[in-house]
Amino acid sequence: MPLLSSWIEAANDPACPFPLNNLPCGVFSVAGGPRHCGVAIGDQVLDVTAMERAGLISLADRAVLDRPEWNAVMALGPAAWTRLRNLLFGFLRAGSDLHSSVSRYLHPLSAVELHLPFSVTEFTDFYASHHHAQNVGTMFRGAENALPPNWRHLPIGYNGRASSVVVSGTDLHRPWGQLKGPNDAAPRFAPCERFDFELEMGAVVGTPSRLGRPVTVAQADAMIFGYVLLNDWSARDIQAWEYQPLGPFQAKATATTISPWIVTRAALDPFRVAAPEREPELLPYLHEPGPMNYDIELEVELTPQGGAPVVITRTNYREMYYSAAQQLAHHTTAGAPMRPGDLLGSGTVSGPERDNRGSLLELAWGGKEPLDLGGGVTRSFLEDNDRLTLRGWARAEDYTIGFGECSGILRPAIAPPWPVD
Ligand code: MN
Repeated sequence: MPLLSSWIEAANDPACPFPLNNLPCGVFSVAGGPRHCGVAIGDQVLDVTAMERAGLISLADRAVLDRPEWNAVMALGPAAWTRLRNLLFGFLRAGSDLHSSVSRYLHPLSAVELHLPFSVTEFTDFYASHHHAQNVGTMFRGAENALPPNWRHLPIGYNGRASSVVVSGTDLHRPWGQLKGPNDAAPRFAPCERFDFELEMGAVVGTPSRLGRPVTVAQADAMIFGYVLLNDWSARDIQAWEYQPLGPFQAKATATTISPWIVTRAALDPFRVAAPEREPELLPYLHEPGPMNYDIELEVELTPQGGAPVVITRTNYREMYYSAAQQLAHHTTAGAPMRPGDLLGSGTVSGPERDNRGSLLELAWGGKEPLDLGGGVTRSFLEDNDRLTLRGWARAEDYTIGFGECSGILRPAIAPPWPVD
C-alpha cells in the first residue's frame, strides 16, 4: 500500500510516524483541560470527541467518544472501526473539501498531554519469543533443558495486574520485596537489586468473547483492535524467590508502561508476516489461517541520569513464535470471556543475536557480562533514575507507522510504612 496523502503536510513525510495510513487512537488534554479522544495525524492530534459532539462523526445510535477512553468504540466491533477510519480518510485526505470544517479540531501534538488511551480491564503476559525463552532457560537450567516441555505446544502466560498499567511518561519507584540470599541465608525484605525491563508489544482486545465459548484464531484476530508498545518492568530477584510453583506475582506488579497511541490492526495489515516455522506442528486449534505476525522494528534506549541516551537493543516483533491472535484464542479455551480493554503482553521480544535481546537479564547475562554503555558506564540491571524508552516502527517504502514513545524513569525506592533495617 502506498502513502495516503493528507492536506496536513507533515503527515506526508516518509519518516513521520503518523501518516494518514496510521490514524492511531489516543486520549489527550490541552493545558489541564478535559481529556478527549484524539487521533494523531502528522504533527497534530484531531479531537474526535469534539467532532462527535458537533455531529461530524457518528458511529452508533449514541455517543461513544464522549468519555476519555476508547473502550466504547472498541466494543462496537470491526465494522464501526472501519467506518471511523473511512470517515477520517474523508476529512484528512489531500484535496478533501471538508478541510475548513475540520481545522478547528486540530491541536499541535507538542501542546497536548497524553493519557492512558483505554481502560485496561485485565492484563495477561506471555513468554512467546523462542530466543528469549532459550536465553532465560539456558541461564537457569542449562542449554539442554532451556525450554520447558510445554513451550513448543502452547503459549505460556500468566494473569497480571491491570491496575498498574501506566502510560508513557509515568515515573515508577524501585519496589521493595522479599529477596533470598544464596543457600541457607534467610530471606530479607529490601529494595529490589535486580530491576529490569522487558521489551514487548501489547495487543488490545476490542470486541468481547462469551463466557464458556472459546474462539478460533481467525475470530481472535478479528477481535483485536490494535497494538501498543509495552514495557513489562520486572524485579528479577523478587521473581527468583517467589515464582515457584505459581509463577510471577510481585515481581511483575510494580508497573507496566504502554505507549500512548493504539495503532489499529487496519494500519498494521500491510505489515503482516508469517511466524517462524513451528516444530513440532501445533494442535489444530492453534493453526493460523494466514500470516498473523507483524514486521515491526523495535529498539530500546537507556539514558542514565545526566548521561547520553544509548540504544541497547534492536529487534523485530516478527521473531515471535506465537502471534497475539494465537495467544488470545488459547486464552479463551477454558471458557473465560475476554472483554474490551483486555491487554495481552506478547512476552519479551528477543532476536537471535546478543544485541537483539529484549531485557537486561539477557543483555548482561544475569549480571555475568555487564553491558557497556560507553564512557566507563556499565549496567547489569537498572540503576535509580535510569530512563528506559521503547520505540517501534513498521516501515513501508514511502511511509512509516509509529507508536509514539514508551518511556519511564525508575525513581528510588520509597520506604514502606513499617520499620526496616
Ligand atoms: Mn513479560
